[in-house]
Amino acid sequence: ASIETQPERSEVRSGSLSVGGKHIGMMAGPCSVENEEQIVATARAVKAAGATALRGGAFKPRTSPYSFQGLKEEGLKMLAAARDETGLAVVTEVVSPEDVELVSEYAEVLQIGARNMQNYRLLEACGKSHRAVLLKRGPSATIDELLLAAEYILDGGNPNVMLCERGIRTYEAHTRFTLPLASVPYLQAKTHLPVVIDPSHGTGHAALVPAMAKAAIAAGADGVIVEVHPEPEHAMSDGFQTLNCEAFAQMMAECRRVAEAV
Ligand code: PEP
Ligand code: MN
Repeated sequence: ASIETQPERSEVRSGSLSVGGKHIGMMAGPCSVENEEQIVATARAVKAAGATALRGGAFKPRTSPYSFQGLKEEGLKMLAAARDETGLAVVTEVVSPEDVELVSEYAEVLQIGARNMQNYRLLEACGKSHRAVLLKRGPSATIDELLLAAEYILDGGNPNVMLCERGIRTYEAHTRFTLPLASVPYLQAKTHLPVVIDPSHGTGHAALVPAMAKAAIAAGADGVIVEVHPEPEHAMSDGFQTLNCEAFAQMMAECRRVAEAV
């Protein structure tokens, strides 16, 4: 991952999504896939607003075992239907090594969630996949640990890795996590891998998301991943940090102005 082994910045491309180099990847969609109508409606709306990929969780790693765990393969099929409808590449989480092959059949990008950043068997399995990987920083992981986790995937033979800063756990309780935007220039000085910011999990408040997305782009981020739902107040997970489709369209218009200025 070191910039010393590869001075030119990596670009990750898969379907409609390009992240790195001159391309800012804009990935948007619900925390969880809930039904086909919800995911197709979201895909249409985020595409119209300028998103370049659709996110949506089918395998959900939840803090409580009593929370909604995701639609699993049924959810993957709904994501594939939304891709067929809109052409948007699909980004979705894989939580166990045994599922990497299945998820790779349906999605362009395998998301490794924050809780699994140091699940080494999962990292190795993603290293063997032909799909691009979005590796999220663990809430208590250092930057060096994030980079070493990325090495597992790269060393396994998969060069298409994106790093995602999604906030870390600190003493501050006003936001769900603390989102260090300095990770963008810091990581870009150390590694050639694209750097993506997740302002949704990073703040835990929908009202804070657009400002942090704009700040991420101003800081030079290669991509942004945002939670969007047609009715956040009825979302089955993370509704409190989810933008509705109108707010996302507004955010995208503002992000374009920032991108032009930097
Ligand atoms: C998610 O993207 O919905 C998610 C669970 O993210 P994280 O792993 O960063 O908590
Ligand atoms: Mn979420």
